[in-house]
Amino acid sequence: MQKLNLVWLRNDLRLLDNAVLCSALKHAEKSGAAVLVLYIATPETWALHDMAAIKQDLLRRRVVQLQQELTELALPMLAIEGGSYQQVTEIFSTLCQQFELNVFVQAEYELREQQRDSAVEHLVQQHNGQFIRFDTQCIMSPGDIKTQQGDIYKVFTPFKRTWLAKLREEGVHCYGRPKKISQPKLELPDFLPLKDGDGSSADWEVAESGVLELMRRFCREKVADYHQQRDFPAQDGTSRLSAYLAIGVISAAQCVARLQLEAGEAWSEDKSGAGVWLSELIWREFYKHILVAYPQLIKHQPFQHETAGIRWHNNKQLFDAWCNGNTGYPIVDAAMRQLNQTGWMHNRLRMIAASFLVKDLHIDWRWGERYFMSKLIDGDFAANNGGWQWAASTGTDAAPYFRIFNPVTQSERFDPKGDFIRLYVPELSKFTGKTIHWPHAQPLSAYPKPIVDHAVARKQTLELFAEVKKTHDN
Ligand SMILES: Cc1cc2nc3c(=O)[nH]c(=O)nc-3n(C[C@H](O)[C@H](O)[C@H](O)COP(=O)(O)OP(=O)(O)OC[C@H]3O[C@@H](n4cnc5c(N)ncnc54)[C@H](O)[C@@H]3O)c2cc1C
Repeated sequence: MQKLNLVWLRNDLRLLDNAVLCSALKHAEKSGAAVLVLYIATPETWALHDMAAIKQDLLRRRVVQLQQELTELALPMLAIEGGSYQQVTEIFSTLCQQFELNVFVQAEYELREQQRDSAVEHLVQQHNGQFIRFDTQCIMSPGDIKTQQGDIYKVFTPFKRTWLAKLREEGVHCYGRPKKISQPKLELPDFLPLKDGDGSSADWEVAESGVLELMRRFCREKVADYHQQRDFPAQDGTSRLSAYLAIGVISAAQCVARLQLEAGEAWSEDKSGAGVWLSELIWREFYKHILVAYPQLIKHQPFQHETAGIRWHNNKQLFDAWCNGNTGYPIVDAAMRQLNQTGWMHNRLRMIAASFLVKDLHIDWRWGERYFMSKLIDGDFAANNGGWQWAASTGTDAAPYFRIFNPVTQSERFDPKGDFIRLYVPELSKFTGKTIHWPHAQPLSAYPKPIVDHAVARKQTLELFAEVKKTHDN
């Protein structure tokens, strides 16, 4: 049987800094195995994960592009439809009939992904092959950042301190571009070829070189002002790289390496733009580390157990108004309409919209988590779950439950001139000055009335939390 090193890509869809690909190639050099890159689209399982259509489209477009990029290295790529994770095992079963397989993958931490990988690993091992996982989603592997007592950090700031100390000690390493290979053409079984997506992500770059340039330009031209601009949704002050980090068109290590190059000494200074951006990349790692350490999060359970008892009101009509951007709170509506129209939402707005759903409408944070996932081009389980649990005060390092965002003052502070609101709420396009944040002083026919009174809702939130805290303390 022919020896084959199979590079099964999932959320590491890149050539550069790809440890999985480089290791498979290096191993093949010694063993004489052929190399094949594999991607399996699994829309049935994606649907179970509420993956947004725009993210599915981005994945499909990126895979097609990657197939072309790989031809420059003479590396074949099989891109196929697999339906569900169950069918993935059947695909591997077919491959095992024809090849002596070694499978190289990036480790994935979510539940169904782990079950899928265990099933494939078992199958490959039964056929005397190896299934080799690489922990490359983060710069620091989950479990590697621990307190002096050997525990996992539950709070971000000390996690960041230890993470940074380790990075300073070890440096950042990125794998280079793999060399062109030469191998005979592979005879492959027939599988269903990858289908086209719906085209909804067409505005998003998919070439690796293009995405790298976006990242480099951000580090060169924008990161110095990041700390001053990042909270203002009307400004183009953040990197907008989340979708690419989520599916691995670029890696966090590449971002940090470029940051060090462009920002010099300031790369990790707390108060510099570069240092604040670095912190966001560390938040990304923090939430992945937490997910691995506390698997109950994967099952959508709250990190703080007692908050499981909160009696959310879960009013479907209010939820629909929030989803559709019709709450009567302009900043919340602009945020939700940005999400619905573009598949992306600014971080400040994610915090405001999430807080509003939970603490003004008293709707279970899991409803919002799911809705965000179904719309976001950058949907990432760990970051989304972490963000929602932070906003709902149910998570690790969460906002204290009594700190409740006032959507009107948030709006005045972070969209002072109303420029962002006007972009997405055309009903308010004629409003100038402060009234845009609370336009209800005059009758408005086209724009919805506020669906709740913030002051009343705030009081009710405090009561909801007080109730579970009291039960817990007794
Ligand atoms: C309720 C809620 C849900 C969220 N859901 C997601 C999600 O599904 N996917 C996602 O990537 N981010 C999520 N975030 C985090 C953050 O809002 C986005 O990463 C950010 O807005 C993406 O824009 P950017 O690429 O311009 O970020 P930048 O500000 O340029 O940050 C650089 C990168 O750091 C990472 N990052 C930034 N902030 C965070 C954060 N708070 N937590 C984890 N990683 C972060 C992202 O990978 C981001 O691309 C969520 C935040 C909240 C409050």
